[in-house]
Amino acid sequence: MSDEIYEGDKVEKTDAEWKQELTAEQYHVARHQGTERAFTGAYWNSKEPGNYRCACCGLNLFSSEHKYDSGTGWPSFYQPVDSRNVATAEDHELIGSTRVEVLCPRCGAHLGHVFDDGPAPTGLRYCMNSAALRLEPKQ
Ligand code: FE
Repeated sequence: MSDEIYEGDKVEKTDAEWKQELTAEQYHVARHQGTERAFTGAYWNSKEPGNYRCACCGLNLFSSEHKYDSGTGWPSFYQPVDSRNVATAEDHELIGSTRVEVLCPRCGAHLGHVFDDGPAPTGLRYCMNSAALRLEPKQ
């Protein structure tokens, strides 16, 4: 099972198992589509070099090389490490709008949303929750 480029394998656990393994904040955000309050997470302002992995299953999702300061108070990236390493779904939870939800393709964790107001070269803003990520600092 590769933690680098997603190869189609799945990590499946019960809700009770996730609840036991994760902190309350991680569980709320990643398993129940929560959103942490802006400017409160561990990584919104982090400039530390490294890999941002899924807090639930460890899949490599984002690199500090693609992180930028969006001013939103959430860690923001203009691209994932590989297009295969994130999944998306339409999110209609906010009444009157359609947002694109970003999920871990391996374990289904809710990570955040992607918007089309990001910087070059992609024009995308992957607006993530710190609670769904785990930074592995570069050695
Ligand atoms: Fe995951």
